Amino acid sequence: MDIPAVPDLTAPVPTPPGRRDLAALPKAHLHLHFTGAMRPSTLVDIAREQQVRLPPHLLYIDPMNMPADGRGWFRFQRAYDSARHLVRSEATMRRLVRETLEDEAAEGSVRVELQVDPTSYAPWVGGITPALEIVMDEARAASSDTGVDVGLIVAASRIRHPLDARVLARLASQYAGDGPGQVVGFGLSNDERVGTTADFAPAFRIARRAGLVGVPHGGELAGPESIREVVAALNPRRIGHGVRTAEDPGLLDRLVAEGVAFEVCPTSNVHLGVYTDFSQVPLPSLISAGATVALGADDPLLFRSRLVEQYAQARDTFGLSDRELAGLARQSIEASLAPSSSKLRWFARIEEWLAAQPAAA
Ligand SMILES: [Zn+2]
Repeated sequence: MDIPAVPDLTAPVPTPPGRRDLAALPKAHLHLHFTGAMRPSTLVDIAREQQVRLPPHLLYIDPMNMPADGRGWFRFQRAYDSARHLVRSEATMRRLVRETLEDEAAEGSVRVELQVDPTSYAPWVGGITPALEIVMDEARAASSDTGVDVGLIVAASRIRHPLDARVLARLASQYAGDGPGQVVGFGLSNDERVGTTADFAPAFRIARRAGLVGVPHGGELAGPESIREVVAALNPRRIGHGVRTAEDPGLLDRLVAEGVAFEVCPTSNVHLGVYTDFSQVPLPSLISAGATVALGADDPLLFRSRLVEQYAQARDTFGLSDRELAGLARQSIEASLAPSSSKLRWFARIEEWLAAQPAAA
């Protein structure tokens, strides 16, 4: 089988003269999916191991061809499913977790909240409980080796029955805790336009009773009306994406006042055709409204862009200063579900980053 050249997403992002290295800026990565975080080279490796021919749409993603309609989502979903079908052993699951934390460490992430839907991997490892335990176990070990603090978000899928979400919420509740690799939140992912949000409210109630925080997706593919439903039914502390709240300033002000944070993943928005390019992502509107924003990469495997690139694009497209970028990093840590003692330690490291002299002009 021909193995095509695959991009190295971990290659350093260049630092312009007079600016500070964004990979050295301590930050929290709060929107990252388990399979979507896979290195492209690992995808090629496991396809080779399984003697599976990778579908061309997984290997040749043309970032210049991003249609501004729903086709963006369906192409994405097909690619994601193809990648997920290759993750079918404990060894591969462990490899993904470990490599993700290694890559995050290289990017300056001090905290990662990794989303996983154990249902997808359950058939290969004996059920949803072992699937979750494998991820937790490797996350704990890799956290200790890399120094990256990690919490898990168990995410249900909108395209499955709401009763499945309740089963997952009960599972997640059993593993709630703020230690490394434990479950801190409960999410809802997949196509926002499918299903009735209110049907998932009982699952989120189960999770909340166990102390888990609600972090559902919303406000990327669908607009303000759908965000209102997510907020009313699921009572989230953070919204995965939520960028389209900017279309309704009244709603934005309300969510800011209620302390709901936004996990903004600009490259995802552009790849899925929500915005034509990075400059259309309403990051400046969210920031000026006082929103708490945590930049995220969502699915680096498919969007071909990791976390530091999101900060670099915010710098280059919107002209954010190092102080403003440090503010975003600080917000990402604030919005994380890490213990407050850890947050204070990381805030101090952000101040050190700002105090250090930038690269010579
Ligand atoms: Zn996502």
